[in-house]
Formats: sequence, structure tokens, C-alpha cells
Amino acid sequence: MTEQGPQAAAPEVPRRNWAGNVRYAARAFHRPTSTDELRRLVAGSTRIRAVGSGHSFNRFGDTDGDLVSLAGLPQTVEVDHERGQVTVSGAMRYGDLARQLHTQGYALANLASLPHISVAGAVATATHGSGQTHGNLASAVAALELVTADGDLLPVDRDTDRFAGMVVGLGALGLVTRVTVDVVPAFELRQYVRLDLDREALDEALGSAYSVSVFTDWRTPRLREVWRKQAADQPPPPADWLGTTAADQPRHPVLGMPPENCTPQLGEPGPWHERLPHFKLGFTPSSGDELQSEYHVPRTAAADALAALDDVAHLIAPVLLVCELRTVAADELWLSPNHRRDSFVVHFTWIGDTAAVLPVVAAVEERLAPFAPRPHWGKVFVTDPAELAARYPRYADFAALLADLDPKNKFQTDLLNHYFPR
Ligand SMILES: Cc1cc2nc3c(=O)[nH]c(=O)nc-3n(C[C@H](O)[C@H](O)[C@H](O)COP(=O)(O)OP(=O)(O)OC[C@H]3O[C@@H](n4cnc5c(N)ncnc54)[C@H](O)[C@@H]3O)c2cc1C
Repeated sequence: MTEQGPQAAAPEVPRRNWAGNVRYAARAFHRPTSTDELRRLVAGSTRIRAVGSGHSFNRFGDTDGDLVSLAGLPQTVEVDHERGQVTVSGAMRYGDLARQLHTQGYALANLASLPHISVAGAVATATHGSGQTHGNLASAVAALELVTADGDLLPVDRDTDRFAGMVVGLGALGLVTRVTVDVVPAFELRQYVRLDLDREALDEALGSAYSVSVFTDWRTPRLREVWRKQAADQPPPPADWLGTTAADQPRHPVLGMPPENCTPQLGEPGPWHERLPHFKLGFTPSSGDELQSEYHVPRTAAADALAALDDVAHLIAPVLLVCELRTVAADELWLSPNHRRDSFVVHFTWIGDTAAVLPVVAAVEERLAPFAPRPHWGKVFVTDPAELAARYPRYADFAALLADLDPKNKFQTDLLNHYFPR
């Protein structure tokens, strides 16, 4: 086991989310330094939530009671070589975990576009990367340790009844102190950026390498960039690959932003954790002044979903910084947007103007409705609760789990109550 002090770079407790569109309404902010202190805090509070690194864009995690950061707890990384798993503190950032794992010869199968996010916060919202054969980050979770509403410590694992309902828990079932995830042997990747993809070739492009992201701007039907993260021993894409051309210098997904913030491209081989994310740990990810929305539809509906969005491209383009298209493999987790569905994911990085963006979000949702889109739990969406419930076969089971684990509504928030009324 390696134990560091509390995360050196972590601020006290954030008063607002990373994007700045949510100012937390908590009446008190806490940063306990031990699990016992955290348990006493939870037991004595009538309303409490955890905040991770604050990178989500909505108010699921906002409370009018106590907001607690777990970043002050001792940060530990314990590798179980026999099981091929690692147990980490919930507040640890994926980027810090990745570095430690790599030095021990291990990797995570996939990562999100940014390494700055906390493990527990990312898992709670089913954060994901891209890859047709890779599940989201929550799907790699083998066990959790939660501080439940009465302040007890509850360890759960894949053998626990209703575990599949607890992993993507929206922070509403308890405060997650430790997370155990599956690991794989460390590996190397190369990242190539290709320009100007025809939509007809999208499916082939998305399936062409370990992890592939496609970026577009909805100003033309053509797709601006393909980011191919491929096994280091795989040959580079040929010069005429799918009719694209090779980028001859590093790129940032958002035009005009510095490519130095991004992980190395141009085919330079490197460790998994320095190629799977688009952004480097020590730098600002994405644009900073932005909002995000994201929708998961069945992978087989990819072409039709894009065609449906063509009708509102004239609304999307003016408020868009960039749109990213990815894939995620199906899983069994109750509230995972990938629940029993291999998914095609349409992600929008919007300008940071809520009033201008919300009507466009509604228009996008209306166009995608025939494909039963499941929104990202950490981003901006306006889906009607009844419609959302109909898109998740285990929605009612999750509501029952909530009532069992949080009988006094201690972890309830206004947005959670909107979607899971009690
Ligand atoms: C620039 C940028 C890029 C992004 N890229 C991606 C991407 O590639 N893929 C993707 O899927 N998402 C992406 N996201 C979204 C992001 O991964 C999710 O919003 C994620 O939840 C953020 O984790 P966090 O630690 O910041 O969580 P927070 O925003 O702090 O919290 C999210 C939720 O988790 C709960 N929570 C946090 N910690 C705990 C805990 N210890 N116990 C219980 N509940 C807890 C909170 O109460 C809240 O409900 C991106 C976001 C940004 C800002």
C-alpha cells in the first residue's frame, strides 16, 4: 500500500463547480481528515453531499446542507496482484492513480478525456472514454466502501445484492470513501489525428483502434478530426486512410485553444495514461468557459441520430465550441447510460452561456428522442423525468434502493428529487 498525505494540489472545499455555472448552496463546507471524522459528520447532519473535483455541470451534487470534500482523508493506493485490482481513496484523481499504477506495471482499461476528475465523482456519474470494446469507468468497479446515512461504513462488492445499482449512485446512496477497480497490464499507445472524415466512414473509423474520438462543429456534414489512440505496435494509418489527411502538427479539440494542453500526438509512443486522456493533468482541460451536454444512443442508431441532428445544426453551431463522437460498450449497471446497450455518444461542448444553450439542449433532445437518448448524469440536460425513467429498465429499482439506503433523505438534492421524487 502506498499512502500519501491529503492531496497536495487540492483546494479547500470548492465553492462552485469547475465551469462556474453552479455555485454550491451549502450552508457549511467540510474537509475531514479521517474516516471517523467523516462518519461523525454524516451521522450528525440532516442533509449532506460529497463533492469530488467539481467537474460536473449540473446540481445533482448540490445541497443546502453540508458539502464535504473527501480530499483531506489519507490518499491510499493498494494493488491486489492476485485479483488484478486496485483499491483507492474515492477522492483520488484518476491522473494521480494512473501514475502510481503505471509505476507498478498496471493500467486501467480506459480513461476519460481529462485526468483531473476524482475516482468516486467520475464513477458516480458513469464517466467514460471511448472504444467499442471498453465499458465506462464505472463498469470496471469491483467494490466500494460507503459511509451510509447513519454514519456506518458499508463495504459492498460484486457479490453484494443490488451492487449493480450502487456503482452509478449519483452520490445519493452514501459517501464513497474507497473504490476498487479492475486493472490490466500497462500498455503503450500512439495518438494520430486525421482530418476531414466523410460521415459514411464514421463507424469504420470509430472501430479502427483501441480508442477513437471524432470531433466536428456542425457547420458542415463532414467530420473535422479523428483522434486515433492505437496500440503502439500497430502500424500508422496509411496516407489515404478512409479518405482523410494526416494532421502535421498537434491539435486541440477546441479551435484556437493551445495544443500544449493536450496529450502528445503525431504518433509518438507513450504510456496509456498519457495518451487515453485528450488533456494533460497539469493543464486546463478543454476550454474552461463552457458547458457540456452528452447523449448515449444505441450504437446501431449512430447514422440516424446524426441525420436527425442535421435539422437543428443551424441552432447547434452558433453555441458550440466542439462536438465529440465516441463509443462505449454495454454494461449491467442500473443507471449506466450504457446499461445493456453498446452506445454511440454525442457530446457537445457549448459556450458558457446557460440562457443561450438551454433552448438548443431542448432542441437536441427533441431530435434525439426517437433513439431513447440517455443523458450523461454529470452534464446539462432537460429531459422529462418520466421519459428518462422509461429509458432505464432498472429506474424504479434504483428509486427503491435510494429509499432503503437513505430513508431520511439525507443525500437528497433538488435535482435528484426532480428525477427521483420521494
Ligand atoms: C473539461 C471536462 C471534460 C470532461 N470529459 C469527460 C469525458 O471525457 N467523459 C465523461 O464521461 N465525462 C467527462 N466530463 C464530466 C465529468 O467526468 C463528470 O462530471 C464527473 O462526475 C466529474 O467528477 P468529479 O470528481 O469532478 O465529480 P463532482 O462534479 O465533484 O461530483 C459529481 C457527483 O458525484 C458525487 N460525488 C463526488 N464524490 C463523491 C464521493 N466521494 N462519494 C459519493 N458521491 C460523490 C457528487 O455528489 C455529485 O453528485 C468532463 C468534464 C469536464 C469539466
